[in-house]
Parts: sequence; structure tokens; C-alpha cells
Amino acid sequence: MSTLVASISGTAELAKLLVAERDRQKAATIEGQLTERITQAQIQLSQVLSTIIEKDGRLQALAERVRELEAEQSEKNRYRLAKLGSLGNFFAYELRPAAELVERSDEPPHFACQPCFDIRKQKSILRIQGTLCFCASCGTKVQIEPGKPVVPKSLRRDPDPFARRW
Ligand SMILES: [Zn+2]
Repeated sequence: MSTLVASISGTAELAKLLVAERDRQKAATIEGQLTERITQAQIQLSQVLSTIIEKDGRLQALAERVRELEAEQSEKNRYRLAKLGSLGNFFAYELRPAAELVERSDEPPHFACQPCFDIRKQKSILRIQGTLCFCASCGTKVQIEPGKPVVPKSLRRDPDPFARRW
């Protein structure tokens, strides 16, 4: 009888171990699946994060571009297109009168080169000397008043200092 009890008890222990073993295998399987899902979620999260970082970078670049364009437009609003001189049709950006300027209204009157402003996106103050007008940035040289032009020494190397560049 005690042998039978011991045998049943042993079987029960074995069954428990078997159940425990199956539970461990099941737990290991579930743990493996969980690990796989966590890994996938981490991969997806890192992809989402990199997309957000990339879009944030693009947003910052766009915001910077908007600031540049606003500054450019703000600077351009300080000028108006005007004919320069009485000879030909040479147009340049003329600084608006001080009363119309919101900022830096103490700047002296001057003209800015139109192609430099519009195409090269830089402000270049035109030099007017006698009957000629020069842009030191793009090299434009134009006679804007009738009369004999006096070519400055710095431009005498150029074979045709009166040629319009555009
Ligand atoms: Zn120019």
C-alpha cells in the first residue's frame, strides 16, 4: 500500500513536473514572442523617431528659408525701381525717402544694382561717377548721362567700359 501511495505520489510529482515543464515551454514560447514583438515595436519606434527627426530638420530648414525670404523682402521693400540718369533706360533700386522707411532711415540716398538684387540676391550699391554708373559686384558699367565719360583708373583696363552687361 505504501508502495502504491509512493508510486501515485511520484506520478503526481512527475505530472506536476510535466505540467511545470509544459508551462515553462509555453512561458518560454510566450517570452520569445513577447521579445520578438518588443523588438519589432522598438524598430518601428526608431523608424518613427527618425522620420520625426528628419521632418523636424526639414521644418527647421524651411523656417530658416522663410526667415531669409522675409529678410530679403523686408530689405527690398526699402527700395523702389527708378530710372537712373537721363541717357537710355537704366533702372536701379533707389532707397525710398527717409519718411517711408521703417528702419535705418538715416541711410544716405543711394541706388542698388537691380540684377545683383534680383538675380544674385545681394545688395550692391551703385557708384555714380560723372556720367557713368558702376556696380563693383557684377561689373556693370553704364553711361547714364550725356557727355564725355571719364573712366576711373580702376576701370581703364577694360576695353569697353561702357558696355551694358544685360
Ligand atoms: Zn550688380
